[in-house]
Amino acid sequence: MGKQKKGDIDKNTQVIRVNRMNPERDHIINAARLLRKGGIVAFPTETVYGLGANGLHESAIKKIYIAKKRPRDNPLILHIGYKKDIDLYARNVSAATKKLIRVFWPGPLTVIVKKRKKIPDAVTGGLDTLALRMPDNIIALALIRKSGVPIAAPSANVSGKPSPTTAAHVYNDMYGKIELILDGGRADVGLESTIVDCSVDPPVLLRPGKITRRQIEQVVGVVKNDVMNNHSLIHKPKSPGLKYRHYAPDARLILVESEPYDIKTTINALLRQYRAQKKRIGILAFFPGHKYHVRKNEVLVNLGMNTYRASRKLFETLRFFDAQNVDIILAESFPLSDHAIMNRLRKAASEIIIANNKDGPSL
Ligand code: AMP
Ligand code: MG
Repeated sequence: MGKQKKGDIDKNTQVIRVNRMNPERDHIINAARLLRKGGIVAFPTETVYGLGANGLHESAIKKIYIAKKRPRDNPLILHIGYKKDIDLYARNVSAATKKLIRVFWPGPLTVIVKKRKKIPDAVTGGLDTLALRMPDNIIALALIRKSGVPIAAPSANVSGKPSPTTAAHVYNDMYGKIELILDGGRADVGLESTIVDCSVDPPVLLRPGKITRRQIEQVVGVVKNDVMNNHSLIHKPKSPGLKYRHYAPDARLILVESEPYDIKTTINALLRQYRAQKKRIGILAFFPGHKYHVRKNEVLVNLGMNTYRASRKLFETLRFFDAQNVDIILAESFPLSDHAIMNRLRKAASEIIIANNKDGPSL
């Protein structure tokens, strides 16, 4: 066995089960110690699992980029344990930002603010702004508070893969790359936080999430939509969507958008087409009334129309299809077209088909 060099990560990734309502003190103390001295620890939040490092420790943060194979220019979210800590890391915090965090923190809302100098460039990718969030998860808060430093943490998946919503997902992606995973059960929300750029006026919604634009507007008035968010794939009959691929399973995901009847007809047509090509097919459905007649070697998952349940299960289901070795996932669009689920599905898609029965399915 090769000798381990100083600074190398222990190849044995430890998974420790932690009580999500009343985290064991020793587990939190050990994890916090590891973070303070520059290690990385995966931990549960209410959105998805995070891959955490001491947010003031440049070389620790760099380990996150390596473990995730994340592009260096994609900045991280800094997680804090108290609302008032925003002023330690941000400057010129606007009244609108303060209102938002009063209402939504702790919770699945990330605010982009002007950063203070002490924040290493490794966190912000060299930007003058910083993403900040206070998570609503007892384990995450205990860990951040005990470590005494802000925790820089992106989602704990390999870049481009669906975000992890259980410790097992993190283990699959991060085994041998990180020291410790705190297992706090399944993430409640299942989708990453809503991101609002509060460094500009009016604020701009950069990423939709459980907290909706409407909810944010009720607190701060008009909020602009980031154009990149929707990247107008919906307006094109067919798009490779490759440039924006993200949250993506290994299988090729084909998203079908349209009226419910057209979606079903189109998916059945695609099912026949890919069966003929001997592909192993998975179907991701949302409409409860849509019954697909799948064969033994095909995988059907219907997540239903309840937004909370479908959100919680979305990434887990994409990973499930990969575990089942499907080649193609035929995905129905979620019935609420502006829901965050649709944003994630569009980014996960290799192809988007707008079904239109009038002219026949646009295959
Ligand atoms: P993740 O936690 O993996 O969802 O990644 C963090 C997300 O926050 C990424 O989509 C980043 O692009 C975004 N983000 C982090 N910092 C900033 C910033 N200063 N400005 C805009 N977006 C940011
Ligand atoms: Mg991520």
